[in-house]
Amino acid sequence: MKLFTAAFLTETNTWSPVPTGMNAFKVDKPFYRRDGSLQPVVGGGNGVLAAWRKRGEADGFGIVESICATTEPSGPIVTAVYEELRDTLLNDLRAALPVDGVLLFLHGAMVAYGYDDCEGDVLKRAREIVGPNVPIGVELDLHCHLTDDICNSALPVIFKEYPHIDGIERAHELYDIVRDAIAGKTKPVVALHDCRMVGMWRTPVEPTKSFVARMQSLEGKDGILSISFGHGFPWADVAEVGAKFVVIADGDKAKAAALAAQLHQEVWAFRNEAVTPHDTIDEAIDFALAQPEGPIVLADVADNAGGGAPSDSTFVLRRLVERGVTNAAIGCFWDPIAVSFCAEAGEGASFDLRIGGKSGPVSGQPIDLRVTVRKIVENHTQKGLGGGRAQYGTSAWVEANGIHIILTSKRQQVFNPDAFTGTGCTLADKRIVVVKSMQHFYAGFAPIAKAVRYVAAPGTVGADFVNLPYTKVTRSFWPRVADPFAPG
Ligand SMILES: [Zn+2]
Repeated sequence: MKLFTAAFLTETNTWSPVPTGMNAFKVDKPFYRRDGSLQPVVGGGNGVLAAWRKRGEADGFGIVESICATTEPSGPIVTAVYEELRDTLLNDLRAALPVDGVLLFLHGAMVAYGYDDCEGDVLKRAREIVGPNVPIGVELDLHCHLTDDICNSALPVIFKEYPHIDGIERAHELYDIVRDAIAGKTKPVVALHDCRMVGMWRTPVEPTKSFVARMQSLEGKDGILSISFGHGFPWADVAEVGAKFVVIADGDKAKAAALAAQLHQEVWAFRNEAVTPHDTIDEAIDFALAQPEGPIVLADVADNAGGGAPSDSTFVLRRLVERGVTNAAIGCFWDPIAVSFCAEAGEGASFDLRIGGKSGPVSGQPIDLRVTVRKIVENHTQKGLGGGRAQYGTSAWVEANGIHIILTSKRQQVFNPDAFTGTGCTLADKRIVVVKSMQHFYAGFAPIAKAVRYVAAPGTVGADFVNLPYTKVTRSFWPRVADPFAPG
């Protein structure tokens, strides 16, 4: 008895100017392994693979592990790099035959040049290799583009939580489904249902929180094995973008399809309640300046590196400067050139520095400021989501007319206040703190913030879903139209 496992994932923002090559998967990625020596590192694909190994060995399976390749969200993967990683995985699978089951940890929103549906491509080829009867389970991020190729080739189980705190839990559920199918206890069938909605659903808050609990309450009974709500990843110009349901049932596809359609109606009913309100840049600054006390935390969501943005946009910084706002902090700008200039000038030096706007039009124009270098930190880090340290590389804290700016050499969204305070830049005494992050900053910053506002600045991950420049979507979707299922 043998199980084959692998992890190969990234989230592709097709409008990101940051390319994805082989270094992205290998450099600074302790998770990249091919030798079966996986350590259970939470936050990478490793944790999921380690969970499957442990379960499989306990059940008497031999385990064959292939690649574990992950990287920071960015633009489309270079074609040859995608094909090399994909073929490494598939050749390992071919070499492992015969296998009794396959467990893959993929993302669901991976795009390479020439491949809009990388996961569908991988799974279809895996299905051809193992034949029609071997169960293939796939765990996906909820920011995924669900397609027929994925659902016809494999059994998808998707994260339920955003922030993504349930990757290991879902790995165990998928393992159970595949193990029972191998044993002949169940005959899993998959129903895919398109909601024709593009949006974001924050699961720690209502009404989405209760909906997650409701999905879980329906699993494991009446022949329903698993229910997943794929939120979709809006920032990709692919035909299948948008929210969809996947239901896995034991033998009864019609039942799975009916439940998916019913749950779609429930999500549709609370669609407006689930929308996060956003301020314009000036509305957010006005709000912050009107408060008796700071800090007010403003999230520059559109420049979130975690969604593929460069993290060097200048739109918010420019308005702070133009409006003469002081006692503000903003970060983190991915600007290795500016960092190297600051390191050259040295701590205490004042000089004219060009900041940000270097990655492309989505980042706006660079901004030129006379700055004072307050601190240079080598190997700057912040507390990451999984509790480990997330790397920023050599970083600089500079000040220009009362605006404190953090510049970094490595691209990374802000998770925790120590992204600032780790350089010596205090936050408790600031009126305004701007973080380049969509949602993962929240747990760390809410305790120190008098209020948190989400800002609709321009950028790579903007929240204006009506006007995203899709060219490949052929069906109607909400919120671009009020009723995407209306005839005509
Ligand atoms: Zn995600």
